[in-house]
Amino acid sequence: YRAKKDMTGLSLYNADYDPHSAKRLTMMSDLGKAIRENQLALYYQPKVDLISGRCYGFEALIRWFHPHMGFVSPAEFIPIVELTSLVHPLTVWVLDHAIKQVRQWRDQGHKISVAVNLSARNLLDDNLPALIGRMLDQHKLPGQALDLEITESAIMTDPARALKNLDELHALGVGLSIDDFGTGYSSLAYLKRLPVQTLKIDNSFVRQMLESERDEIIVKSTIQLAHNLEIKVVAEGVENERLLEKLQSMGCDNAQGYFIGRPMDQEKLERWMLESHWFC
Ligand code: C2E
Ligand code: MG
Ligand code: MG
Ligand code: MG
Repeated sequence: YRAKKDMTGLSLYNADYDPHSAKRLTMMSDLGKAIRENQLALYYQPKVDLISGRCYGFEALIRWFHPHMGFVSPAEFIPIVELTSLVHPLTVWVLDHAIKQVRQWRDQGHKISVAVNLSARNLLDDNLPALIGRMLDQHKLPGQALDLEITESAIMTDPARALKNLDELHALGVGLSIDDFGTGYSSLAYLKRLPVQTLKIDNSFVRQMLESERDEIIVKSTIQLAHNLEIKVVAEGVENERLLEKLQSMGCDNAQGYFIGRPMDQEKLERWMLESHWFC
């Protein structure tokens, strides 16, 4: 393997996709330890309702502080974990922490939910719905306290099995969202049959919407499509006020992005909850 860079700086061969690269092997062998030794943390990013102007929940985003490599982005290590069965204990770790966190928020009187990202392999795990049901029961939480984010490609790995598990999760009252909508190979036929309540329009369309007419059209049509199917829309990647206003005028239901709040650790989050007009 050789990394070739052209003049745009884009790598034609991307080492991130080489399963044998030294860094990937190190990451894979260190992840088990990371779970056991507390190198992982969940950051939380607010999701807001554009009509009421209120924060209705937070998305849990994993962070890994490796003792030697330093901060490793989930965009880098999640795809590797997904190749292995380690993805199961990792997801259980995330669910456990996120569920305890939402229990705490509710005890403090905030009627909000927490969103957890699932991997393709999680969706194929027939034990997952029952496990999630038990975790919610254990903390006396209704299904509505939890939202699960899944990608189109994860569903398309084995649509029949994914659909069965999604139906079971839906029966628990858990919210289901399609993440990164528009980037996967999407099947509108499945979208119609899925028990999802929300579509998240990917960052990549939202961020350039004001400059790119095509992106604006994609966002507009996605909102229309979703609304026709009685599905709500979250715009990801809202980085400035103009974007927020534009989305509002387009009838977009919910938003998430740096302009509203970045993914935050406990300390920053507590401050945000005290100071943000979306929360107070
Ligand atoms: P995602 O679920 O689509 O999460 C949104 C990503 O966009 C996050 O990146 C978030 O920090 C970033 N983001 C949010 N607002 C903005 C914005 O205004 N501008 C820009 N440029 N970016 C924004 P992050 O935290 O690096 O996570 C990347 C991906 O890793 C996630 O994409 C998700 O697919 C995956 N991931 C993160 N945590 C978990 C996890 O606990 N489990 C699983 N299976 N996947 C996870
Ligand atoms: Mg997500
Ligand atoms: Mg997303
Ligand atoms: Mg994304």
